[in-house]
Amino acid sequence: MESFQNDRASLPRNMIENSMFEEEPDVVDLAKETPVYPLDPEDVVYEPRSSRLLVRGLGENDLDEEEEDYESSARLLGMSFMNRSSSLRANASPYTRQEPPGSCSMPSAWTVVVGVFILVVIASVAMVIYFLPRCTFTKEGCHKVNTTMELIYPISTSGELFPWTKLRLPGNVRPVHYDLLIYPNLTSMTFEGKVSITVEIVDDTSKVVLHASDMKITKAIVQDKEVKILEYKPWQQIAIKLPQEFKKGKSCVLTLEYSANLSNSYDGFYNSSYSDNNGVRRVLAATQFEPLGARKAFPCFDEPAFKATFRIKIKRNASYISLSNMPKNNTIKLTDEIFQDEFENSLTMSTYLVAFIVANFTSVSKNVSGTLVSVYAVPEKKDQVNYALETGAKLLEFYNTFFSIKYPLRKLDLVAIPDFLAGAMENWGLITFRETTLLIGKNSCILDRQLVTMVIAHELAHQWFGNLVTMKWWNDLWLNEGFATYMQYTSIMKVFPDLEIGNDFLSMRFKALAKDSLNSSHSISSTVTSPEQVEEMFDSISYEKGASILLMLNSVLSEEQFQKGVIEYLNKYKNKNTGNEDLWNSLSKVAKQTYNVTTMMDTWTLQKGFPLVTVSRNGSRVKLSQEHFLQKVDSDSSTAKSMSNNLWHIPLTYVNDSCSLSPACKQLLLLKEKTGTLDIPKGVKWLKFNFRNDGFYIVHYGEEGWKDLIGALTKNLTDLTHEDRACLINNIFALSRLGKVSFRHVLNLLEYLENETETAPLMEALSQLNHIYRLLEKRQDLNLVARMKRYIFGHFGELMDNQVWEEGLSVSQKQLRSSLLELACNYRRQNCTDKAKSIFENWVASNGKQRIAGDLMKTVFSVGTQTESGWVTLLQAYKYSKVDAEKRKMLHALASTQDILQIVWLMKASLEGSIVPTQELPLVLSTICKNFPGHLYAWDFLKENWGEIAQRFPMGSFPMQSIITSTTYQFSSKMHLLEVQDFFGSLKERGSQLRSVQEAMETIKLNIQWMDNNLEALRVWL
Ligand SMILES: [Zn+2]
Repeated sequence: MESFQNDRASLPRNMIENSMFEEEPDVVDLAKETPVYPLDPEDVVYEPRSSRLLVRGLGENDLDEEEEDYESSARLLGMSFMNRSSSLRANASPYTRQEPPGSCSMPSAWTVVVGVFILVVIASVAMVIYFLPRCTFTKEGCHKVNTTMELIYPISTSGELFPWTKLRLPGNVRPVHYDLLIYPNLTSMTFEGKVSITVEIVDDTSKVVLHASDMKITKAIVQDKEVKILEYKPWQQIAIKLPQEFKKGKSCVLTLEYSANLSNSYDGFYNSSYSDNNGVRRVLAATQFEPLGARKAFPCFDEPAFKATFRIKIKRNASYISLSNMPKNNTIKLTDEIFQDEFENSLTMSTYLVAFIVANFTSVSKNVSGTLVSVYAVPEKKDQVNYALETGAKLLEFYNTFFSIKYPLRKLDLVAIPDFLAGAMENWGLITFRETTLLIGKNSCILDRQLVTMVIAHELAHQWFGNLVTMKWWNDLWLNEGFATYMQYTSIMKVFPDLEIGNDFLSMRFKALAKDSLNSSHSISSTVTSPEQVEEMFDSISYEKGASILLMLNSVLSEEQFQKGVIEYLNKYKNKNTGNEDLWNSLSKVAKQTYNVTTMMDTWTLQKGFPLVTVSRNGSRVKLSQEHFLQKVDSDSSTAKSMSNNLWHIPLTYVNDSCSLSPACKQLLLLKEKTGTLDIPKGVKWLKFNFRNDGFYIVHYGEEGWKDLIGALTKNLTDLTHEDRACLINNIFALSRLGKVSFRHVLNLLEYLENETETAPLMEALSQLNHIYRLLEKRQDLNLVARMKRYIFGHFGELMDNQVWEEGLSVSQKQLRSSLLELACNYRRQNCTDKAKSIFENWVASNGKQRIAGDLMKTVFSVGTQTESGWVTLLQAYKYSKVDAEKRKMLHALASTQDILQIVWLMKASLEGSIVPTQELPLVLSTICKNFPGHLYAWDFLKENWGEIAQRFPMGSFPMQSIITSTTYQFSSKMHLLEVQDFFGSLKERGSQLRSVQEAMETIKLNIQWMDNNLEALRVWL
């Protein structure tokens, strides 16, 4: 599955409004459309509490310090929050550990007796509660395996004891084959199903437990006898009592008939809709099963290790087509209106990869080495499918060769679904996408094509990594996602070098380092049991850290050996399930190196975080040491101690001034211990470790080492690769956050930027500085905000002003231009806003026909929406646009407004889901949060609407993680920390336990600490 890692990947769906295509978009007069959002303040029901406190300083960041008493402004703001938060009880948070009483006097005998009595009572009550059969006490399942506990079972829906006590299914039977018949009714939005599951008896048993959720089972038959079904809803399990005990080695067939509603929540078998060219609402039904949705579409053993074959039949109305994983075998006409499509028997596969669709899509196809590749979309967008077809075909050929195993199916469908929550899903043979990640309009820009190519490359890699070989359990999800992410970059570098994907891969690795430096991070391979924990595995660690450590291993083994090991692994385990160790064993087998791949890689997958390598040099002797790079909150000493003994087997690479650019210059050293030494030739002027940032660690060079490197950059920056320059910038900012170097050193290094022209280092510096700017802006420390802005303009202003606004640049030049200008216009640099404004006005005057370079659309539209009429005009254009990549840029601009009414309306509209689809809420909130005071409104919105948000998005899922992170990561005051703690604490099981909540609080604490440590220094240095 492709989650969303950044703005470019949080993607829109098509509109579902009937009114959308009331008239042809080409003839809409954008300027004359009436507003559709409530400009009248009376219409805005929602009134964020935070906003009442914020009257000053809105959009007023340009003032010089002499012009405004910023200190008093900031104090006013702080006081307001203090007043507001004073009602919060300081100790109320469940996240604050309650210290035991520090000291007490000796208790009297009476006190002891009473105390013992109370303890006995408490213990008894606890025992009673524990043995109550509702099973809400642990995530591991109700009870540990012991004779007393086994007698305690949950209560099923019918009131009888449910014969299973764990979230994971028992291993007493194994599914071998499913025969599934599905009949959706797209008028009543319901479906009927019948599944016959052949199971093999692994241990003598008289019961079968499997998954089923949100369905009504009308009949259950085993060996021609009707049997009883028990259901335990909290764990989405059903139990079938077999008519007699079945002996090990036998098999039997379970047949279940059922009915259910098509889901409204983007998972299971769900309904989707769009408006056709005549404004008529069209409906369709599609599936999204990963991770836990298959059980909502048919009763099944819904765990990845229960692989089986599937034969699927779908009944459909004559006006629709149906698609499934396998090619269609035949179609039977049941009545004039109803047809039944039967698909070929599938390969053995996990339930989460099963898929089917009933829709009125059209397609284009192409034969690639015996596989028919097709791209499907709604008929209105059939002119946007060709890029995906060509790209999919090329990548399929690449993977067929790279993995030395031919894609095993005769067909491969890529389908754009109008409503889709994830980025894409790798269902075997039937990959589903958001429209934005598959369709390319004729005016699209190369960055849109880059995104589509990346997502296709990711999903195609899954056809081997994930589908052919699957992880045993979700704890090793990274085997799927880390690998697919790694392959999405490496395949594109080879097949589409013009897309210049290297910079994206590099910044992805920087992002993974930042996430993994928090104490709330987790090991790549983590314990996972509850559904929320399964959802939470779809995060930056599984995808991005997973991909990063594979790159590191590749750079150690050599590309050739790495590929050989991967082929060995796929061949050995095809159609099976694996764990971490299986991949490492295969790679060890082919590795020429003397050290053990498994031992080395275990240190990267079984413990969280990554190392900081400190280098100190004395002549030709270099001392090395490693420690956990953990951003510590000083007041929280327990975490630091518990992590201090972690060690990694670090494949340290380095280059020096005599040879620093070619991979042949790279030297390698494995640092396994806490410390190590290295001898270098005399006369070496400087050393740069972590060549091209291929390793997953950060390096501190000490005062002298940094001085030497800064000297090298100043003298001739091209003595280092652009990846190495970006790496130095990233590392020095990270070290300053850790308190290892002062911010003064950071600024010293950045001085070299006046000669920098490459995208990667410039964008890394810009993004780090912008992050600090945003934090200061959110504190309304306007004095520092103004200085910071002056600093950024001092270093980047000329570059910003020199950007051209026309087409014709390379991908990386466009990426740089787009970042520079987005920031310049956002900071209200006049050169930028004047130009953007005039382009926007021309665009409006031409009724949207005037072409704007795709990478500049966001910037131009964002400037355009700063006036009320501009915002309304763009909202109209958003409603009418047929090109999803473009719509998404418009939505981004709409959310960049600083108008409070518009902000509030947009958040409400996104949650409600008609004009702005609900799947866009994470994007809307994260964009609103970038600006002041939007982030305060967004935070209040989150609190007021948590219940509804939690209903729309699975608990712990990537959209949920994104919403929590974006609404909290810019707080840097104790008052906000208390408020965030208090709010999430009050949610209890409805959210307080989420990892992203822990991360949010840790981030705020670190922000507070950073401010305490750096604010004064910034005032002096900036
Ligand atoms: Zn994936």
